[in-house]
Amino acid sequence: MSLAPAGRFAPSPSADLHIGNLRTAVLAWLFARSTGRRFLLRVEDLDDRTFSDIGTRQVDDLAAIGLTWDAPVEWQTGHRDRYDAVIKQLQDDGLLYECYCSRKDIAQAPQAPHAPQGAYPGTCRELTAVERESRRAETGRPPALRLRTDTFVGTVTDLVHGSYTGIVDDFVVRRGDGVPAYNLAVVVDDAASGVDQIVRGDDLLSSSPRQAYLARLLGYPEPTYAHVPLVLNEDGARLAKRDGAVTLAEIGVDRALEQIAGSLGYAATTVAGMLAEFDPAALPRQPWIYQPG
Ligand code: GLU
Ligand code: ZN
Repeated sequence: MSLAPAGRFAPSPSADLHIGNLRTAVLAWLFARSTGRRFLLRVEDLDDRTFSDIGTRQVDDLAAIGLTWDAPVEWQTGHRDRYDAVIKQLQDDGLLYECYCSRKDIAQAPQAPHAPQGAYPGTCRELTAVERESRRAETGRPPALRLRTDTFVGTVTDLVHGSYTGIVDDFVVRRGDGVPAYNLAVVVDDAASGVDQIVRGDDLLSSSPRQAYLARLLGYPEPTYAHVPLVLNEDGARLAKRDGAVTLAEIGVDRALEQIAGSLGYAATTVAGMLAEFDPAALPRQPWIYQPG
């Protein structure tokens, strides 16, 4: 069965959505709707399983600003079997290896030849069974699983950034605590629900070559990307709770929609009205500096 193409918004329920997250959600919805796609919502709660009330509030906030979606909201914790099956498949294909490194180990390891700055240095890639045994005993914690990739970089095409080349290292697909890694879960879920258009904040642009690599490896179609500018505070830092009134509960629906529309240069202050004015080529390329109040 082939699914009709879809876009999506996929928040992590670590905190209530702030005005910047809401704006990204509106843009994801506009991109999907203006191209005739279905729109889906997925709460990425693998890390924040205990914060389901935050996830529920996020979903309510997205409905309150007028966004609509075409399937029941998905929660990643409901998909563990799906991730485990893909991890098993990669393991059976000999593409995974155990990594015992802490963050500090990685920071202190010498850079591998040819590997770009910031790439995993390959410390655990060629360990023998005996070495693995002794690393396991030394660290006393279960290893993460990394994907054995055959390249250092990859290029994706992004509707906002054009051609973007970034690191494709041996990235983690299952963390030491057994939780599937974000990069794996996102690729598997997007493919499973027919998502072929990924719109999200541009803090994730650098992850997209890794995700595109994994998608290709698993035989999934490669999606279109649009990484949209983040919202910053007046100091140029990422918007956060301490910046004042930033959530929908604090700002109110009407004012939030006015601010989002204003930041995008639209006269309309409903999402349906913004859809009529939406022009991806005219999107602001600069971060939106948000002034609460
Ligand atoms: N859950 C991720 C976040 O909130 C976004 C994942 C994605 O859109 O690919 O940062
Ligand atoms: Zn390692």
